[in-house]
Amino acid sequence: MSAADWLPEGNCADAEPDVMFPEPREPVEDALKLCASCPVRTPCLVRALEARDRHGIWGATAPRERRAMIEAWKDINPLAVGA
Ligand code: SF4
Repeated sequence: MSAADWLPEGNCADAEPDVMFPEPREPVEDALKLCASCPVRTPCLVRALEARDRHGIWGATAPRERRAMIEAWKDINPLAVGA
């Protein structure tokens, strides 16, 4: 299933890009609130880990939170995009 299938169902579908892609050191709380009740949070986080996406809020995680997760994901799923 590609992001095109589930991303329109996400709580952030109508959010301003600045909310979901804050600059470094900008607050992320508004984005994380949207993610908290999002029905597609799991595929969203998986997409970010597989793509090793280090920008923006995905699956209720900020880039700094995903760094270690991405490293672990590479060991679990070495065939992920960018491997
Ligand atoms: S989990 Fe967060 S970033 Fe992902 S689609 Fe839902 S609201 Fe958007």
